[in-house]
Amino acid sequence: MSPALNSALKFDQKFRAGVLGATGIVGQRLVQLLAGHPWFELTEVAASERSSGKRYSEAVNWHLDTAIPAAAANLVVKGLDPTLDCDFVFSALDSSVAGPAEEDFARAGYPVISNSKNHRMSPDVPLLIPEVNASHLDAIPIQKKNRGYGSGFIVTNPNCSTAGLVLVLKPLADAFGLEKMFVVTLQAVSGAGYPGVPSLDILGNVVPFISGEEEKMEEEPQKLLGHWDGSRFVEAGIGISAHCNRVPVENGHLECLSVSLKKIATLREVREALRNFTVSDELAALPTAVKNPVVVLDEENRPQPRRDVEAGNGMAAVVGRVRECPLLDVKLTLLSHNLLRGAAGAALLNGELLASRGLLTRSRVVALESSSVPVAQGAE
Ligand code: NAP
Repeated sequence: MSPALNSALKFDQKFRAGVLGATGIVGQRLVQLLAGHPWFELTEVAASERSSGKRYSEAVNWHLDTAIPAAAANLVVKGLDPTLDCDFVFSALDSSVAGPAEEDFARAGYPVISNSKNHRMSPDVPLLIPEVNASHLDAIPIQKKNRGYGSGFIVTNPNCSTAGLVLVLKPLADAFGLEKMFVVTLQAVSGAGYPGVPSLDILGNVVPFISGEEEKMEEEPQKLLGHWDGSRFVEAGIGISAHCNRVPVENGHLECLSVSLKKIATLREVREALRNFTVSDELAALPTAVKNPVVVLDEENRPQPRRDVEAGNGMAAVVGRVRECPLLDVKLTLLSHNLLRGAAGAALLNGELLASRGLLTRSRVVALESSSVPVAQGAE
């Protein structure tokens, strides 16, 4: 489908979305974002046996400032049986169950748009940031063939600290090439889900370890910034060293980045490359997209999580303190919202790109009891 068609995109009927892991901290954000979404309508929520069988409003420990959307409150929470009454699913499942559950849904014919780590590095699964590597969706037919899937498939979004980092790296990679980098994170507690890090461990403290996080930050950018050659993903081959820390901040991962470029660039050129990073017309037509996904601040004490985390509705990466690095070439500080850019918003944007490219369909015919589950009507 051409970008011109997409910019005028209107669907005559909404796609019916399910959320797996809807009671968790990412799942709640998805439920919130889906309320009033122009293309998607939430028709199913699923979670563990602890929650299934209850109404969503009873099962969920709701953390957000807005009320539970009326369209979600009365939905009955289902288990992970892939017989949900929806056209596709978002997965915000705990990684202990996401792997096989997402495969079961894909095999049963559902497109699965996942937040979890389990399939991100699989050789036939797109790890997607639409502004960075939309062409990786070309792997879907191979995935379907490899796995014998029909209409189903799996697409993933990256780890929450990788998401902001790679959004900032992409314009630098395009303009100057990337050789190596060193990154130190200060990550919010909401990145650990609920209840997450015990308050006695994190209040007035910093924890210099997040299990598996440094490995993800060193691996995932290689796939995201690499390319699909028609049969496999070719990694970017960038040297990356990451240190990850948990800090007592509610939302927003801050990252201190030093980077070595392949081509010599002035600081002004680096700032310009970041500021001029604009998405294509195809992406700009997606409801959750922002035209300039990297915001550059000039103040010497920004970005800060409390002040800047909502930039671009939480979908922008905010950069500041662009300066010379005495060891590598350039250093800067970046911030992104771990639950929006790094999780629920990222998945939603992936879903919108799939819809705009005709990769979601309403053709699933589901004959099951859940179709009679009442969907609450009313204000959102
Ligand atoms: P969370 O708050 O712990 O939520 C986990 C969800 O998984 C809940 O809905 C839970 O349901 C469900 N679940 C747990 N065990 C289950 C089981 N045995 N069967 C079915 N459902 C089960 O975690 P989260 O922070 O939302 O993260 C969700 C996923 O997104 C994880 O894979 C995480 O790594 C990834 N992620 C998180 C972030 C972030 O910033 N938090 C960012 C990027 C990616 P119950 O409520 O019924 O237990």
